[in-house]
Order: sequence, then C-alpha cells, then structure tokens
Amino acid sequence: MRIAIAGFNFESVSFILQETTIDDFEKNAYRGEEIIEKLRGTNTVAGGFIGVCEHEGVDLTGIVSTSCLPVGPASDKAFEKYTAEISEGLQNLRNSIDGVLLHLHGAMTTPTRLDPDVDILKEIRSKVGPDFPVIVGLDLHANLDESILEYATAVFGYHCSPHIDMGKTGERAGYCMIRTLRGDIRPVCRFAKPKVIVPGISTVTELAPLSSIMAHARQLEKQAKTYIDISVFAGFPYADVPNCGFSVITVSDNDPELAKRTVEDLSNRIWELRHELYRAVSVYNVADGVALAIEMAKTAEKPIVLVEQADRMNDSTYVLRELLHQKAKNVACPYIWDPKAAAAALEAGEGSTISLQVGGHSHSRAGGPVTIEGKILYAGNKEYRITGPIKRGTLLRLGTTAVIDTGNIIISIISTHFSAMDEDPFVQFGFRVQDFDIILLRSKVHFRAVYEKLADEIIIIDTPDWGTAALTCLPYKHVLKKEYFPFTEY
Ligand SMILES: [Zn+2]
Repeated sequence: MRIAIAGFNFESVSFILQETTIDDFEKNAYRGEEIIEKLRGTNTVAGGFIGVCEHEGVDLTGIVSTSCLPVGPASDKAFEKYTAEISEGLQNLRNSIDGVLLHLHGAMTTPTRLDPDVDILKEIRSKVGPDFPVIVGLDLHANLDESILEYATAVFGYHCSPHIDMGKTGERAGYCMIRTLRGDIRPVCRFAKPKVIVPGISTVTELAPLSSIMAHARQLEKQAKTYIDISVFAGFPYADVPNCGFSVITVSDNDPELAKRTVEDLSNRIWELRHELYRAVSVYNVADGVALAIEMAKTAEKPIVLVEQADRMNDSTYVLRELLHQKAKNVACPYIWDPKAAAAALEAGEGSTISLQVGGHSHSRAGGPVTIEGKILYAGNKEYRITGPIKRGTLLRLGTTAVIDTGNIIISIISTHFSAMDEDPFVQFGFRVQDFDIILLRSKVHFRAVYEKLADEIIIIDTPDWGTAALTCLPYKHVLKKEYFPFTEY
C-alpha cells in the first residue's frame, strides 16, 4: 500500500486587501521526502497522517505541503501554483499510489475564488478519476457546503478549538484511508448546514454551549454500533463567502441513513442554540477592558490576560495605545508584526535606546502606529521549534525580531505573522509569563490551551479591526445575510 501526502492549508480574511503570495507560502513549504522528515512526530495533520501510515507499514510519498498564518486572501497565482503541483503530482503518481491524504483548511479565499478548497479538490478529482480515494483533513473553522462531498471520499475536521488535536485529526483521516484501502469500510458521508454564523472568539469548544454540542457528537460516535466519525465545523466569519458558517459532516461505513440522521441532529441543535453560541464570551471596549485589567492586576496572583481579539494582522495598536495612555505597569506585549520597526531595532543594536513607530500599519482599521521609546533587550533573526501544544515540534521562523523595554511595557516585534499563544514568546527570550502583571495577546482561541491555567483572568477586548465580534457591522458582499443568523434576527 502506498499513499501520497499533500497540503495547502490557509485561512483568509476577505476584508484585508494584502494578498498572501507564493513567497509567503514558500517560507513554509516542504516537498517530497522532506514533508515526511520534517513533519513526522509534529502535532499537525500531516504529522498524524505520517504517524498512522508508518505504524501500519504503509509507504508514503510526499508531494507538497504548505501553510501560512491567516491574513489576507491567497493570491490567484499561489492558488494556481500549489493546486497544479498537487493535482499534477498525483496524476504522475496515479499508477503507483493507492490514495491521497490531503490537508486543506476550508476557509481559503483568493481575489477571484470564493471556495478555492473545493476548486482544488475538483482539479484533483479531474486528474485522478472518480474512484481514487481522496481523504481530507480540515480545520474546525472551515466554511463548507455539500459540494465538497462530490469530490472528497471522506472529510475530517478538528474536534477541538484551540486546535490541540491536529495530529489526532490526521490520524482519524489516515485510519479511514487505510481501512478503506483494506476493504474493511466503505466511507459514505453526509452533510448538513444550520445557517448560523458566530464570531471566531465564540468558537471555543470547551465553552458552553459549543461544549455540549461537541460532547453530544462524541456520544453519538460512541453509541453507534458501526463506524462513524463526526466533524462539527464552526466556520470562519471573516471569510466573506456564501457558505460561511457552521456545518456538520459525518463519515459512516456505508450507512447513509445513520450519517444523515447524525448530521441533522447536530445541525438542529446548533440552530436551536444560535443565540447562546453567538454570545459565548463577553467582550469589553478598549478603555473599559484596560481599566479593568489594571484594577484586577493590583490584587491578582497571576497575570491578567488581555486579548485584542479583532486583530487579524498581528499589528493592531488600540490596546497598546490605551495601556500607554492609562500608564499600565509591568506589561508584556509579545509579537507585534512590524518588519520595518524590527529592522530598525536590529540596526540600532542590542543595548541601545530607540524611539520607534510600532504596528498599526497593515491597513486602515489596524489603529495606526504607536510611538514607543525604550532599551533594545534583543535584536536578531529568531527561529525555534514550537514547544506549546498547538503545532508542537514545528519550526517557527519569526524573522528579524526585537525586544524593547519601555520601562513599563516589554514589547517584542516580529517580521512573520504569528500570534503569541503559548509560553514560547517569553521563555525563548529569557522571560517567564508569571513575572508580568498584564499580558496582551492577539490569539483568538488557541491561547486558551495554555493561558487558561496561567492567567488570573482573561479579558476579551473588541475593536473596530476586521476581526470584530460584531459581525453585523462587517461589509459582507457574499455572505447570504437574508438566510443566515445573526443577520436574519439579530
Ligand atoms: Zn481554526
């Protein structure tokens, strides 16, 4: 048995105009044998594919695997390049492989495409024929419609958000492939869509009511007498596409009735709980959130975590500006994306004092730059292997990086889009999370896997940036507002 592995994993914020280009994707691209060598043992979907196949003695062949942190749409050229690489690679290997395990996201857009993930599958299917097994691992934030099942043999999404189960998702997909090829099961999938869209910040699977929906899905899997795998997708509301929002897919062993019953049960629950799902977390405005953090930090034993949740480019400055304005002390502000400011600090050199315009450059809603002045504690080209639970073991290249101490706030500036979500932004630079009173993060959900334990309190702050929790304020063009909650009955 020989299986091909490929990946093109990307989530797009439609409202951000800067495209994610081939150069960006190439920074994280692996090809051929390198995919297997670099991703073996990592907590990624590909890591899960590889682990299962090697455990079962299956030969693997890598085609291309790339990903980027979510920012603006993928360029059409990038879409065409990686789609051609994957589909033509499979066409060339067609006679020597038995199936392909593919890692996509499900919420990619390009300037001209509203569902490029399905377009990739369509292209692959046209090259490999109707019966070739194409099994897909997707993000929990995929925006889907039933068309995906025309081209994919089976589809698996993460069960957890924060996505601590990327590797396990790859394993579920990998086992389905192997059992299918051995003739043990015949995957038959069904799809349902409850027409509910909620802010990203509300898609935490440990928080009610999504926790109850996920628990019910696991219960249905357990109760079933035959194989069934259930994926509940929460959707990604910042991709402006007609199939935005929740959906449910089940993979059964040739049991369309069970698969259909299951997706409908879960879809109905999501619809019934739509109001609670939308408001699963409380959000504060900037001034109130910062004031509350400063007040709480006076007596808290652990840091207060502020989350600038609407930031989509890792450079929003609303909360940093307010922290400076309200004279907050002993604050850490890890990983602001600003390659120019990082380069200026590198040029000035460690130990010198610098005045810098930081962040807020990326687009009109990012808040504009903030002027900081401080001592450069570190300046250099930083890379390390992630030690936190999300993507553990993968190499993170931050590019030119600087750490500045303003006296009250320690700010780290990076040149790659990446959100601080684990302890690495501290320990990799010689700090400890617990030494700070207030920590400003930009991760929406993933930080919870680590910071729920480390923080005394988590305060979510909303701003006018493109990731606002007030979805009804966003300038959607393609979301079907006449049919979908919250637009129908907000
Ligand atoms: Zn996600």
